[in-house]
Amino acid sequence: MKKRILLLAGGQSGEHEVSLMSARSVLAALPRDQFDVTPVVISKQGRWLPPTDTARALETGVSVPGGDLVLHRAASAEGYDAVFPLLHGPMGEDGTIQGLLTLAGIPFVGSGVLGSAVSMDKVMTKQVLASAGIPQVAWRLAVRREWGQAPDTVRARAAELGFPLFVKPANLGSSVGISKVRGLDELDAALTLAFSLDRRVILEAMTAHKPREVEVGILGNDAPVASPVGELSFGAEFYDYTTKYTEGQATMHIPAPLPPEVAARVRELGLAAFRALDCAGLARVDFFYVEETGELLLNEVNTMPGFTTTSMYPKLFEAAGLSYSELVTRLVELALERR
Ligand code: ATP
Ligand code: MG
Ligand code: MG
Ligand code: MG
Repeated sequence: MKKRILLLAGGQSGEHEVSLMSARSVLAALPRDQFDVTPVVISKQGRWLPPTDTARALETGVSVPGGDLVLHRAASAEGYDAVFPLLHGPMGEDGTIQGLLTLAGIPFVGSGVLGSAVSMDKVMTKQVLASAGIPQVAWRLAVRREWGQAPDTVRARAAELGFPLFVKPANLGSSVGISKVRGLDELDAALTLAFSLDRRVILEAMTAHKPREVEVGILGNDAPVASPVGELSFGAEFYDYTTKYTEGQATMHIPAPLPPEVAARVRELGLAAFRALDCAGLARVDFFYVEETGELLLNEVNTMPGFTTTSMYPKLFEAAGLSYSELVTRLVELALERR
């Protein structure tokens, strides 16, 4: 019997388009002798699009409004053996869809409510990982109401960290809404941007030197394994949206040219973070490596990382001998195992 898979893509976050790209790759790669795959694109308004609109969105990369309410469609999702929620960012990677599917009793790929929600929020992630003894940059939280009513306290909190610093919406991805702030004169614009996208904003110190950016893939449920380590290099000041998604602006190095003990530490810390955050299925764990000091700092955990055939996560496992289509098959198996 073929397994019936519902592939969810698009979604309401700023990473809608990125999700459509990932979904196109997964749709093409799930072996048809094992799986019957139905894609459903979720519009930016949060409606689940009917088949014709879904097919058009996947083909053109643009979704139309319309479609059904999430709850209505979730009930009909009962006919599926598993759901692949290939959604990035809020309302997809943050535990919301995971909660809906848990209530509906349908197995799904990736982390559950807890792991998804905690990993999506950069502040919660830092708090949990700090308690697990994982090294990270210094940071401060600010909430929208403080910025509206007592902006000087927020500015003072930033000044404590020193410049340059990073300002980020706590719950987003693809570098959407992230600014590198070089001095006090750039701070207000960065905070205004971040608060336009999230109620919670994280301020993060930067290391003294421009860090190298290394990433590791984690695959599994309660006995997860780590991929080889990858590195990203780019000319831009930081790994921003344009650098991430413009062909030729960044280069992936797999395996990362690191001393073996540093690579081993990345894998070890990646697994420790996966466990501490109660992740499942998959995660890509991102680090900063400061070559000058030998410091390794965990940046963030992505529970539904970019998933095109050329994305870092699948490439890392390809280097470990798992093809893209074997990887997506394994992810569905892991979803069914967790039932
Ligand atoms: P993803 O698309 O991987 O989910 P994201 O939107 O969650 O990304 P981050 O990974 O937190 O965002 O930050 C994006 C980029 O900004 C990093 O890859 C790095 O280039 C830069 N950056 C973020 N925080 C820092 C920091 N504290 N110090 C130095 N660089 C940073
Ligand atoms: Mg992220
Ligand atoms: Mg992300
Ligand atoms: Mg990142």
